[in-house]
Amino acid sequence: MNIAYLSLGSNIGERERYLRQAIDALQAHPEIDVLQQSSIYETEPVGFVDQANFLNIVVQIDTSLPPIDLLNECQAIEKAFDRVRTVHWGPRTLDVDILLYNDATIQMERLIVPHQEMNGRTFVLAPLVEIAPQLAHPETKQLFRDILKEATGDVWLYDEKEETE
Ligand code: ATP
Ligand code: CA
Ligand code: CA
Repeated sequence: MNIAYLSLGSNIGERERYLRQAIDALQAHPEIDVLQQSSIYETEPVGFVDQANFLNIVVQIDTSLPPIDLLNECQAIEKAFDRVRTVHWGPRTLDVDILLYNDATIQMERLIVPHQEMNGRTFVLAPLVEIAPQLAHPETKQLFRDILKEATGDVWLYDEKEETE
């Protein structure tokens, strides 16, 4: 079996519900077992800024799917949530990225692991460190909690009451 970490993000509509349902969809897959999930974190968008705040979560899974099949599954789940690809880094109902897959280094056209941008993103690192405080980057061996200290960008715990108001 293989341990992978996935980052899920949403910033359109019922963001919290999309994240919860996406995790349910992962768990429902016969070859994916969701082992851990972080708290929900909120962050302001990067890139195209005229959009709602993002909610982000990181999950640890155990899977028998090879990396590219896992990517296909992540993209199938995105599609099921009617994700419309408009602006790069623009608003989306659901984004599912593969952060890590065991200690693998993958450089394919469709899949780069570890995720290329993860080291600079507090909204990825904070939830990752929450569920895996001892985890180190497979190439540099630097602890993600130390990488988080050097990353910039405001991220805070999401108050789950907010969405139901
Ligand atoms: P970013 O990659 O900066 O987080 P994004 O998530 O908005 O940006 P997408 O439009 O969701 O980008 O994805 C673009 C492509 O990235 C996908 O079609 C996919 O093939 C590719 N990709 C490469 N590496 C990964 C990975 N580790 N996880 C998910 N997609 C990846
Ligand atoms: Ca992404
Ligand atoms: Ca993506």
